[in-house]
Amino acid sequence: MSIQVSNITKLYGEQKALDNISFSIQSGEIVGFLGPNGAGKSTMMKIITCFIPQSEGDVKVCEFDVVTQSIDVRRKVGYLPENNPLYLDMFVKEYLEFAGGIFKIANLKNRIDEMISLTGLELEYKKKIGQLSKGYRQRVGLAQALIHNPEVLILDEPTSGLDPNQIVEIRELIRNIGKEKTIMLSTHIMQEVEAICDRVIIINQGKIVADAPTKEIHALSSSKNIIRVEFNTAFDISKLSSIQGILKVIKSGENEFQIHTNTNKDIRSEIFKFAVENKLEVLSMNKEEQSLENIFHQLTKK
Ligand code: ADP
Ligand code: MG
Repeated sequence: MSIQVSNITKLYGEQKALDNISFSIQSGEIVGFLGPNGAGKSTMMKIITCFIPQSEGDVKVCEFDVVTQSIDVRRKVGYLPENNPLYLDMFVKEYLEFAGGIFKIANLKNRIDEMISLTGLELEYKKKIGQLSKGYRQRVGLAQALIHNPEVLILDEPTSGLDPNQIVEIRELIRNIGKEKTIMLSTHIMQEVEAICDRVIIINQGKIVADAPTKEIHALSSSKNIIRVEFNTAFDISKLSSIQGILKVIKSGENEFQIHTNTNKDIRSEIFKFAVENKLEVLSMNKEEQSLENIFHQLTKK
């Protein structure tokens, strides 16, 4: 097991930022830690990386305890903190020498060259960090996190603040790195999880509200499909209840409705028959699968 979190609670004064959280991450997994702002993502990551202590519970990284064996944990973990704090006046190479120096890495020069090529910094490594774009600063942050060849990478909102092209590049880089590491990355963006992660843990107000393979997260939602339909005229919508599989109907316009179904069966032909029987004309009708975005809202709404 790479990360084992057992019954973690974290209090900031009176405030409970984490409330009895447990999960484990196997070696080689790429796990998305997803939640709205203030959910407790960064707090959890700071505990795993030995930056702050928990109030209750325990965390093990590669079987080492984060409180009693923090030196061993730090050797096993690479951490890219939120907002990637860097020394803007340092040269890229100088900063990596500094970051690697902490771990007394043998053959640091070679290791830095490897990191520069892995993270695509070949054209930038002679510059000062302050001269780099945000995307390239993020690469420096990743090179720093990887310099001591840790087994586990903790990345706190690694693409936040990047432009769309930079986001694609950094995600690609993370996917590549993930072939050889265990990665836990936090984000408040659903698509990020779909793009990178095998599994998603959703956290809200300090509690886990879902933990499932990314592919299966759709099954967590009670509504499976949404059919958007527009009729030509008003009618008594309670009549729709004669159709099997309808979970709820939301009026979204004059004569427009969102019909949520709790079945994977396509009920469009039944809606069409219903329209004919009730002398309604169907002006438009289409089916969409419940999006991850919707599921996230359902699971995290107050
Ligand atoms: P996230 O990373 O999911 O946005 P955080 O872990 O940063 O969430 O924060 C969780 C909650 O704990 C928030 O309500 C935040 O205001 C609070 N919090 C975080 N850090 C501190 C701190 N150092 N002191 C007091 N409250 C904090
Ligand atoms: Mg955060």
